Amino acid sequence: MRIRVLGAGIAGTAAAGLLAAAGHDVELVDERFALPSVGTSLALFPPAQRVLERLGVLETVRERSTAPREGLLVGLEGRVLARIPSGRALLTPRTHVLSCLLDSLPPTVRRRTETIRDVRPLREDVDVLVGADGVHSPTRLSGWGERAAARTHGVTILRGTLQETPPEISETWGGPWLFGITPLPGGGTNWFASIPEHREPDRAGDLAHLREVLGGVRAPIDAVLSAADPARTLVHGLATVPRIRPVHENVVLIGDAAHAMAPNLGHAANTALQDADALSRALSRTDSVAEGLRAYTTTRHLPDQAWRLGSRAMMVLGSADRTAPARDAVLGALGRMTRPPSRT
Ligand SMILES: Cc1cc2nc3c(=O)[nH]c(=O)nc-3n(C[C@H](O)[C@H](O)[C@H](O)COP(=O)(O)OP(=O)(O)OC[C@H]3O[C@@H](n4cnc5c(N)ncnc54)[C@H](O)[C@@H]3O)c2cc1C
Repeated sequence: MRIRVLGAGIAGTAAAGLLAAAGHDVELVDERFALPSVGTSLALFPPAQRVLERLGVLETVRERSTAPREGLLVGLEGRVLARIPSGRALLTPRTHVLSCLLDSLPPTVRRRTETIRDVRPLREDVDVLVGADGVHSPTRLSGWGERAAARTHGVTILRGTLQETPPEISETWGGPWLFGITPLPGGGTNWFASIPEHREPDRAGDLAHLREVLGGVRAPIDAVLSAADPARTLVHGLATVPRIRPVHENVVLIGDAAHAMAPNLGHAANTALQDADALSRALSRTDSVAEGLRAYTTTRHLPDQAWRLGSRAMMVLGSADRTAPARDAVLGALGRMTRPPSRT
């Protein structure tokens, strides 16, 4: 089949690689193929690791990953509520995952650098157009209309990296905000925060605001924030998309374009990789585009929507304000019940 993929993020690059390896004729289009300068981390769980293995990049990804066994869930007033096992996740800088995927693209994949303003011509001379163009997907707006436009979650996300060793591995749920600290490969720190929507004109201002909101709450957070550097910080809003079926005629949406989700379960990149895998398998089992896209929808629509809804529920739980004391009491009790028995 002739297949055009719009978007060379994790979803689109993985899809282009797998589709080309299955013998399809693939063009990959993006406005820029350059890697972002800040390499904040993604969690990659075993199903996503299997897709990376199929792409032949798992070992290279693993070389720049860390795999902590567990992290602390901390509630209001700094109380440890639970020790959360990592589920064999790898924590890997997004830039490294993307660079491994781009480097592994078969030479037959044609790359086109262009900012697409009108998606319609892109689907005319191909059998399938894959919209892997992210949360504000022009492909989704073009094929599904304004009702499918992304909507804000009403929060601002800040992420950053530091050279210093992390003071702990944790996620603190502080009421209307949360703050996470994880290790980077090689000994540095990855951090992320979600706060009620607030933007300053520049990243230095955004960091100053974050210090105002979270300063003095917990010593490990203070340590990270005092070392945070605007040049190694990313700031963006957070949007979700309404539930839509991912296929319209010969156009299919994958990754954030289909089901952008809150970051709270760490599954956006995982579902993106699984979408790419399922799409390449579905289109390689049949000569019929309609049949292949139907099979893709059957495989991915429900799991992707379940992760989207679950992530949203976790975001609501994590940023609960008035009900946070009750939440912490329940989670603390569950954490004590699930803690492994002491061996003394
Ligand atoms: C800069 C950045 C940093 C991130 N950091 C983290 C992180 O630290 N942790 C985490 O868990 N998640 C992070 N994410 C989110 C995570 O990578 C994604 O949710 C997940 O990988 C799914 O991505 P995707 O490929 O579907 O979409 P995206 O990664 O958004 O990729 C979409 C691609 O489409 C291209 N595109 C969009 N519109 C057009 C157009 N009109 N013309 C041409 N090209 C277009 C974009 O340039 C982009 O390359 C980050 C995302 C971004 C963009």
